[in-house]
Amino acid sequence: MDSAVVTPEGLLASVFGFPCFRPGQAEIVEAVRAGQNTLAIMPTGGGKSLCYQLPALCREGVTLVISPLIALMRDQVRALNEVGIEAGALTSANTEDENEAVFAALDEGRLKLLYMAPERLAASGTLGLLRRMNCTLIAVDEAHCVSQWGHDFRPDYLRIGELRRSLGVPLAAFTATADEETRAEIVARLFGGDQPQIFLRGFDRPNIHLAFAIKESPRRQILSFAAARKGQSGIVYCATRAKTETLAAALEEAGHLACAYHGGMDPIERRTVERRFQQEDGLIVVATIAFGMGIDKPDIRWVAHADLPKSIEGYYQEIGRAGRDGAPAETMTLYGPEDIRLRRTQIDESPAPEERRAADHARLNALLGLAEATGCRRQVLLGYFGEAAEPCGNCDMCRFPARLFNATQPVRKALSAVLRTGEWFGTGHLIDILTGNATPKVKERGHDTLPTFAVGRDLPRPAWQAVFRQMMGRDLLRPDPGRHGALRMTDAALPILRGEAEIMLREDTVEKSAARPVVKALVADEDAPLLSALKAKRRALAEAARVPAYVIFTDRTLIE
Ligand code: ADP
Ligand code: MG
Ligand code: ZN
Repeated sequence: MDSAVVTPEGLLASVFGFPCFRPGQAEIVEAVRAGQNTLAIMPTGGGKSLCYQLPALCREGVTLVISPLIALMRDQVRALNEVGIEAGALTSANTEDENEAVFAALDEGRLKLLYMAPERLAASGTLGLLRRMNCTLIAVDEAHCVSQWGHDFRPDYLRIGELRRSLGVPLAAFTATADEETRAEIVARLFGGDQPQIFLRGFDRPNIHLAFAIKESPRRQILSFAAARKGQSGIVYCATRAKTETLAAALEEAGHLACAYHGGMDPIERRTVERRFQQEDGLIVVATIAFGMGIDKPDIRWVAHADLPKSIEGYYQEIGRAGRDGAPAETMTLYGPEDIRLRRTQIDESPAPEERRAADHARLNALLGLAEATGCRRQVLLGYFGEAAEPCGNCDMCRFPARLFNATQPVRKALSAVLRTGEWFGTGHLIDILTGNATPKVKERGHDTLPTFAVGRDLPRPAWQAVFRQMMGRDLLRPDPGRHGALRMTDAALPILRGEAEIMLREDTVEKSAARPVVKALVADEDAPLLSALKAKRRALAEAARVPAYVIFTDRTLIE
């Protein structure tokens, strides 16, 4: 096996099919793999199972998993077997055959994970079995069941502490219950005198400002974002290696300290960039996602995405590199229809099996849902990881709430244009038809005689572009790589087309792209020096880029 496959990241991708860890997982996996006693507290849906399943694969011998629900155990065993991992469960619901299969796998030393209900620990012979089978790790799921005060108390969980002592192996406990009393009880009852390493982290990083912007002129947008933060360390993530080089050059030309970083560079050069970033203040690294794994710089003040990331997990991991010191940090993610097209095509053209591609589309949809959020972005983000939250006050949608409008009619008109042209065209041509723009292509195909021709005259072209983008973001329309990216309707659009559902879209982006660029200052009086500094930067930027630069300054955020 090559070494890339046996690292935790390698196994994550090759066995579980996940592109990256969720917040908190990497640290926990590392501690458990290394055989430390651990207690990990993570919200529901945060991905606790993986934090013992993956280390089990890295370790010798068998990992015993204590879990309170038979149905959950069976689900997990089935899922593990499906990806080729030897796992089994001993539960009271097993058939004789199932038991035989588990014992056989144990005898042959094949089994990596053995699930067991806590009641089984009381059965005679269990301890002997566990001794014989080379158990090297105990994982306790839903560890709060050991707490007498909670409503999930399971008396048999009280046997686990003794089991740990008699087997003399490390124990990793997992729960979503974070209150201090329960935690203390878990530690006392499961670990006795051995203080475990405790991982207690909600997913929220409240000091990181979240913002997305429609990609209009990415180079200019990134340059002005960086100009407003000159002298601060930042990262710009790009989708391609070539783009990292051109953007880094553009930033240098505009007077920043900037360098490119990607997997195609010489390893020595890469080390140099990593070292410079760590040591120098105010360096901007323009990178592919190859940059980051080993970066542990506490004072990265901003992260910008010049292209839409691959998934919410990727997005969160990348922006999560900013502001580790807890001080305010800024982020901005650019996205547009081309990003959606690119990511969809990458998924459709990947050699992965059908179900995996469907899951990747669903994951992309979740990210697009965040990009097209109509309310607080942090709520959407944390909700994806299973954590409830109040509106945060530190994202673009909280600061500039979106106005929604009922877009049912325009969306139905757009869908009708898509269907009447046989799902063979892209946004530009469809908008020509809707706005009654009789181009040669429109006339040549007779599309100026369609009933949908010019039915969308009431909206200007940029507004239509925003409608189409949001429709792609909501996965009502999908580009078909087999048809050169022509837009096709998805089943999700049917209820709207049939008049069974209405749809609200964001008006701000519709208006914003329609409006002419403006210079507008909304800076508090005491910030007047800041304003003049920013204005000077804008002028410098306009000169450097040889294009007019327009910026809207607000109290803290700079928006194109
Ligand atoms: P918990 O036990 O913390 O409530 P689970 O272990 O059941 O959460 O995981 C919740 C979901 O998250 C599962 O569908 C799992 O496959 C998925 N998941 C876990 N880790 C990752 C990851 N790194 N990337 C993507 N999905 C993940
Ligand atoms: Mg769980
Ligand atoms: Zn918010």
